Amino acid sequence: MKMFFLALLFVTSLRAEPVPDKLVVLTFDDSVASQASYVAPLLKKHGFRATFFITEGFEFLIDKKHYMTWEQIKALHQDGFEIGNHTRKHTGVAKQKPEQLAADVAFIEQQCEKHGIPKPVSFCYPGYATSEVAVKLLRERGYLFARAGGAKAFDPATDVALLMPQAFDGKPESTLEQFKAAVAQAKGGRIAVMTFHGVPDIKHPWVNTDPVKFEAYMQHLKDEGCMVVAMRDLAKYVK
Ligand SMILES: [Zn+2]
Repeated sequence: MKMFFLALLFVTSLRAEPVPDKLVVLTFDDSVASQASYVAPLLKKHGFRATFFITEGFEFLIDKKHYMTWEQIKALHQDGFEIGNHTRKHTGVAKQKPEQLAADVAFIEQQCEKHGIPKPVSFCYPGYATSEVAVKLLRERGYLFARAGGAKAFDPATDVALLMPQAFDGKPESTLEQFKAAVAQAKGGRIAVMTFHGVPDIKHPWVNTDPVKFEAYMQHLKDEGCMVVAMRDLAKYVK
């Protein structure tokens, strides 16, 4: 009898926890400076967690007005936010040889280590293009989650966590109604994963989110009583 209960305990511990309704993941791509100066303080005010996907692509190395410094990225980590891997050069993974991709992924891991940031467990596909080779490589390197593009909520019961879809992709033309519709998908075991770039994003206007609009999005999450987390916080719901 005792063995039976021990076995039951073991099986129960292997099972994923049920996904609560109104579970929302906030993600911010491309190392944009406004994520440190504007987004993070606002999220802290609301008590929201989030993941920042870091790349040294675009003009990261030369334009420190529009892209974060590693000191700012480290400060995000120290504030409790998750630092995720968005590759060294922001090259689409489908175009890369496995060894090139491995080097670009390893580079961000090394930069994190150098700055006292834990090795990332979350990844974001540059330009949202995915590949089987990349999924295999990420799995082998210990990644738990990888966000792609799309327009649907993530269902841990049926979706591959290393090909996680987004429910919302913040663009200049996005509306509060669209954001609300994405949030409304976070029920019945599904999780709404939201993508943003800079707020604002001066260098990439096609993915810009206006701060006034962003504040309305965040207020909606607050009003709805959503649980707003980083991607790594999903580990207990995915087995
Ligand atoms: Zn990107």
